Amino acid sequence: MIPTIDADRLWQSIMDIAAIGPTPEGGSCRLALTAEDAAARALFLRWCQTLGLHHEQDAIGNMFLRRAGTDAAAAAVAFGSHLDTVPTGGRFDGIAGVLAGLEVLRALDDAGIRTRAPLELVNWMNEEGSRFRPAMMGSRVAAGELPLEAALATTDDHGVSVARALLDSGQAGPLTPAPRDWSAWLELHIEQGPVMEATGAEIGIVVGTMHARYFQLTVTGEPSHVGPTEMNRRHDSLAAVAEVILAVEQIGLSGEPYGRASAGWIENVPNARGNVPHITRLHCDVRHNSANAAIAMEASLRQALADIALRRGVRIDVDPYATFGPIVFDTGLGALLRQKAADRQLSTRDMIAAAGHDSVLMAPLVPSAMLFVPSVAGITHNPKEYSTKDQVARGAQVLLDAVLELAGV
Ligand SMILES: [Zn+2]
Repeated sequence: MIPTIDADRLWQSIMDIAAIGPTPEGGSCRLALTAEDAAARALFLRWCQTLGLHHEQDAIGNMFLRRAGTDAAAAAVAFGSHLDTVPTGGRFDGIAGVLAGLEVLRALDDAGIRTRAPLELVNWMNEEGSRFRPAMMGSRVAAGELPLEAALATTDDHGVSVARALLDSGQAGPLTPAPRDWSAWLELHIEQGPVMEATGAEIGIVVGTMHARYFQLTVTGEPSHVGPTEMNRRHDSLAAVAEVILAVEQIGLSGEPYGRASAGWIENVPNARGNVPHITRLHCDVRHNSANAAIAMEASLRQALADIALRRGVRIDVDPYATFGPIVFDTGLGALLRQKAADRQLSTRDMIAAAGHDSVLMAPLVPSAMLFVPSVAGITHNPKEYSTKDQVARGAQVLLDAVLELAGV
């Protein structure tokens, strides 16, 4: 019997997870290691236990669900994504990848197929980085790119550490985070952009990622009273940051069509009505298909910061706290996905991922690849984020077919 994705079952699972941490506009909010994230993880785990999967969890909260193969010594074929969301999250970013993986295992059960190699389904911790930075924290720690101790000590905006949140949410596992014995890593994800819809591609073969560079800026001015302090005597950190944000936007605009620059987080001190602000922190990032172009964008940013600092008499400290990519995914796995899509008469398009993904951390360790399914109107990190039942199911079918070939029977 040829194993086949059950589109309705997969869709229902996505909707069941979306009902945890619902937002009024129809999206989901499940920040990493909150009660909502823990509830989604618990439901996911219950489903996995119904399938008899072996559950392991590491000390940073990554979940590994293993389906035994007939050859116990074989390296596992691994796949998955993340169940956490941003505050204005939709129903599909990350979730589609985890639950498509679950549906792969359910379909294999239905077909009575035991693969030769074991299969491992993964839910990575804190992919989004909304609550704790940096993003892709779980996979970063597992890959050895971020020390466990440093990750555990990271705090959210309320001073709660990752270590504390892991304990409070019951998500601290016993395993030491480490690369696992895998022969391949695959991640299905929504495109989060408009290209597939515009071109009619049903399956995106992600051949690589952009290069992204992340910064925290601290702008230091001078505290003063908004009444007596004449305008020309002020060193207003928030006003300086207003200029920085526009400069960041301009750098992104100049980098089109392959460049992006964004400023999405701000903290203002003392954030009080009677005070001229004197410390303002801003997170921003630049990204581009080409690493050299991204480095040039950073140079433009630094030049803009120097100009603004000089003109306004403020100090601007730059902490370049993370980078990722550019990653080139495994060409053999890309070819396999392309072939499996063609076998199902699905149209494909090679894509570059503009967002960060856990697969970026896996790529240097194990042959890795991603496949995209379309995002309606390219909307993401938004309650309106949407992919149709059939779009997700087609992607899951390609994932299943590829997994089956890699794991063998
Ligand atoms: Zn994601």
